[in-house]
Order: sequence, then C-alpha cells, then structure tokens
Amino acid sequence: MKKLRKITFIVILSALFCALCFAPKNVAKADTCEHISDGVVIVSAMPSLTSSGLKQETCSLCGEPVNVSSLPSLSVSDWNMGEITLPTFKDKGNIVYTLIEDENIVVNFELPTLGDSVYDLEVLTEPTLTSAGQVSFKHTSDKLVGVVNGTAELEILTDTSKWAKLVTTEATCASVGQATYTYILHTPLTFTAEIPIKEHSYEWVFETTPTTENGGVARHMCKNAPTSSPHYDISLNLPSIPTERVSDENYDFEVVTKPTLFGSGVGKFVYKDSETSQRYEKLFVTVEIPMLVLKSFYVEEGKLYIEYTDGSSECLGTVQGEKGDKGDQGEKGDKGETGEKGDKGDQGLTGATGQAGQAGATGSAGEKGEKGDKGDQGLKGADGADGENGKSYTGLVATSITVSIVSLIMAGAMLGILLKKKMLF
Ligand SMILES: [Zn+2]
Ligand SMILES: [Zn+2]
Repeated sequence: MKKLRKITFIVILSALFCALCFAPKNVAKADTCEHISDGVVIVSAMPSLTSSGLKQETCSLCGEPVNVSSLPSLSVSDWNMGEITLPTFKDKGNIVYTLIEDENIVVNFELPTLGDSVYDLEVLTEPTLTSAGQVSFKHTSDKLVGVVNGTAELEILTDTSKWAKLVTTEATCASVGQATYTYILHTPLTFTAEIPIKEHSYEWVFETTPTTENGGVARHMCKNAPTSSPHYDISLNLPSIPTERVSDENYDFEVVTKPTLFGSGVGKFVYKDSETSQRYEKLFVTVEIPMLVLKSFYVEEGKLYIEYTDGSSECLGTVQGEKGDKGDQGEKGDKGETGEKGDKGDQGLTGATGQAGQAGATGSAGEKGEKGDKGDQGLKGADGADGENGKSYTGLVATSITVSIVSLIMAGAMLGILLKKKMLF
C-alpha cells in the first residue's frame, strides 16, 4: 500500500515535470493529456433564478476544462444572498450570491433597470407640474419576494430631461389646456397635466389693410383667444396710404430694401396717429419700390455720380485721371528692331470740365522704351551686325484712370459719358 502511494506520487511528480517542460510550448494534447487541474474554480455558465449554471476548473497542462459540474439555480436553499444593490430607472441593480456548499463560488446577479418587464410597477403618487411623484416596484420572481422591491421617485413633470411633453389641447385665455408627459426612461409611464389658462395678450393686426384707394381697419386682437371666439380690445379706422412713396400726416414712409438697377426694392408705410404722432410699428403696409433705371452719369467735383430716371442719384466714387508712370528707359536694341507701338493712353475721365485725357502717343519707328519688360529686346543686339546703341525714348506718359468702382459700372460710366457727349453735340 505504501509502495503504491509512492508510485502515484512519482507519477504525479513526473507529470508535473512534464507540465513544466511542455506546458509553455502547449504540446500536451487533450486526447492524451492526463489532466491536472489548476485548482481555480470558475463559473462558466451563470445560474439564473430559474436555471442552473456550470462551474469548472482548468487543466494546467492543456487548458481544457476539467471537473465540470453544475451550479444550482439562484435559490435561497443553495445560495446565500449577500449585498443587494436595488435598481433604479437609470441604473441596474445587483445581488451577490455565495454558494452555500462552497463559499469560494460567488456570483453577481444583475438586476435590470426598473423599466424592465421583470418588475411590477405601481404609481403611488402621480408627478405634477409642481411636485415629484413616486412609484413602487417589485421583482416578479417569487425567489426575490421581499428582496427586490422598493420605491423610486418620478421627477417633477417640468423636468424636460425626464419627461417628453406633448400638448394635446392648447390653453387659451378662455380655457385650460392639456398635455401628456411620457417618462423617457420608461415610456409606459405617462401622465397628463393641465396647462394653465393664459393671460390675454394683444397685438395689432389689420382687419382690413388700407390701400391707396381705401382706408382700413386695425384691431388689437388677443392672440391667446380660442380660434372659435376671437376678441380684441381696441379697433382703429385707418386712412388710405399715400399714392406717392412719401410720408404724410398718417403714415411714415420708410425704405426697407433699396431698389437697384437689377431689382425692385421694398418700402413700408407705418401708421401713426396724426394727433399724437404715436407710431404703430406693427401696423404697416409694404409697397414695392420699382427697380432703378439708369438715366445718366455725371462727374462733379471729381466725383462720379449715377443718375436714375426717378430723379435720385448717388455718388459712385472719385474720378481722377492720373498721369501714368514714366516708362523705363529702353535698353539697347539692335539696329533693325522696331519698337512696338506704345499703347494708346486711355481717355482721361475728367468730364466735369470736359478736359480730355491725354491721348497716348504712338510709338515711332525704332525702339520705344516700354516698361522694363521691353528690355528683352536688348538681347537681340548679339545678332545685329553693326548694332548701334538704340535710341532711348522715355516711355509714354499714359493717362490712367483710377476709379474705385466695379468694372461693370465703369463700363457704364464710359457709355454715360459718350451719351453725354453726344448730347452736347
Ligand atoms: Zn489536460
Ligand atoms: Zn384673450
């Protein structure tokens, strides 16, 4: 007997030795492995309130499960209940169970949030617009009677992070309204609450809008009145609006959007009390201001003006012909080369006094100095047989125009001046 024990001991030692040798290389094969448990019990399948689970150890040689056995379902006859964390609508709960027959086996049983169907909920106090409510809950499993139950607060209905409000009946100045509030964390929890009656709130509206031909009627209507029974506290008879777009004793005319050459504008006549001059900002009639039509351009004191057919005009900017920069001196060119023609100077735009802009001179034969670029020509000297020094000309004095307006308007300006000139002739 002693001998047999000794042999067993040796066998185990050998196996351990083998394990030490081979385990890192994982060469032990499951089908041939003489499993040796690592002695650590793990729960491989969680037991539930109604079904059993599994526990196992692991072979330290091959990693296969060993000593697999079942765990009883979570009942007080097999498990000791430890710490209990009750669930809320927001957070899950938990119960710690310890197996009675082996205290090393501890499982955490998760309790879903209170919105889950495993709970019976009962509203103890309905939440309102002014106070929180309360609900009681209990787990439906008979194994948790008296364990998982309690109360939870239902936040005040004005807490929009918890309640989704849906107005079913708008309140008016004549009657209360109604809204339903649905608990965002558990939508079956829905409550209704009254929306308080509203105060009267008046605003001016036209009963009949005045026109250039007819007067109108304005009323100070209560915007909180039920649509079925509107009411007002003041009524005003309004005179017709002016035919011209100008203010008169009853209306102030204001430009809302200026007209342009490309589109019409918007103006409005704001009603005012002719006696007190009190303006009724909300009582206004909008009118179209026709789009502008170009009549002419003219220059006055160095400024360019545009004139429209409606008699209005506006300054577009400063117009002043400036002398062009002096051209740089041309570099030596070869004999035969001909200078390019100088650009014609632009016509000066000093229309006010009719002073013509300097015409650009025309480049003569031979080299005409242009601005620096022209220097390239000088290189040709190499080819020239008897390259003389090219005559140097100072650059033309061009007259340029500096007008700080868009080119489109500039083109128009030219056209205008031409028109004007024609008119002079
Ligand atoms: Zn093994
Ligand atoms: Zn009212």
